[in-house]
Amino acid sequence: MTQLPIREDLVGRSPYGAPQIDVPVRLNTNENPFGPSAELVAELAKVVADLGSNLNRYPDRDAKVLRADLAKYLNGESQVNLTAENIWAANGSNEVMQQLLQLFGGPDKTLVAFDPTYSMYEDYCRNTFTKYLSVSRNEDFSIDQKVIDSALALNPNIIVLTSPNNPTGTVIDVAEIDYLLNKFSGIVIVDEAYAEFRPAGTPSAVSRLQANPRLVVVRTMSKAFSYAGARVGYAATSPEIVDAIQLVRLPYHLSSITQAAARVALRFSDQLQSQVALLRQERDDLAAWLSEQGFEVAPSGANFLLFGTFGDRNLVWEQLVEQGVLIRQTGPEGWLRVSIGTPDENLAFKTALTQVTNRTNGK
Ligand SMILES: *Cc1c(COP(=O)(O)O)cnc(C)c1O
Repeated sequence: MTQLPIREDLVGRSPYGAPQIDVPVRLNTNENPFGPSAELVAELAKVVADLGSNLNRYPDRDAKVLRADLAKYLNGESQVNLTAENIWAANGSNEVMQQLLQLFGGPDKTLVAFDPTYSMYEDYCRNTFTKYLSVSRNEDFSIDQKVIDSALALNPNIIVLTSPNNPTGTVIDVAEIDYLLNKFSGIVIVDEAYAEFRPAGTPSAVSRLQANPRLVVVRTMSKAFSYAGARVGYAATSPEIVDAIQLVRLPYHLSSITQAAARVALRFSDQLQSQVALLRQERDDLAAWLSEQGFEVAPSGANFLLFGTFGDRNLVWEQLVEQGVLIRQTGPEGWLRVSIGTPDENLAFKTALTQVTNRTNGK
């Protein structure tokens, strides 16, 4: 077959995606291990049934009611005072990010992120012809003023901070975010996909929105809300930026079913928060256990842990798969990332890891 006439910069590239292997314990994509409750599902069924007879109509293009509900949620979660005008919603935070790059990126624009971090940032840049650069975090994966200064030295138009960061779990101190906001006049995007899992008392960057109209905080319902399959992400930012995003969004980008489904989950946010609390406890317990076993564990404010280090992480990963446990090979060489599962899944992971490391140590 002759080669398709696709864009030259896409030739030979592979699409994003973690290996999806059918094993009993899947702890590789940072999903919430708990499905939505039976009550939530019943409510969802009712709402979708009611909508059915109206599906001949396009959805509310501006998702106004959903955006108001999201503002109310953030106001409760982070003690802020936002309205629907501060919120933008789309199909997953991935779509929000791509829209932000369509708006603020482009040829002759540069984005800087902090390595190791989420690999999709580079893909959004590629898709929007934006130049992608990165600076290294400190050895312990933290970001301090020195690291921020080296990002600023690259003269970027957009800076992306991820907190808690994927794949390290590192939470950025809000003092460093303030330092950046004071020194930089470009667009600052803080990806808070895992914000709900952060340690108690850590302020969210949404608390800095009022004073910083060029700050965008991106959130998702994929993790804390157990809603990865529903594809709902959102941004909290200034009304000016929300208005501008409408220049690049596709018409009716967010289906009426998605909008309604998101609103149902928001009504259950208290119930979902109690699962988040359990997962945070499981994370801290698993981190302590891994340290006791002699592993290095990166301090995590997310629903996963980066641990290591292994001479041959691929071998450990494969042997865990053989034991029916799928985790993720990501992050710096030698490290592995495990998502926090149910208590049973975490136990299965501990048992499998013990077997595997005894084997590789020749015991
Ligand atoms: C999981 C994750 C997201 C979520 O993406 P969605 O499109 O909302 O599912 C965003 N950012 C980071 C860093 C993530 O790890």
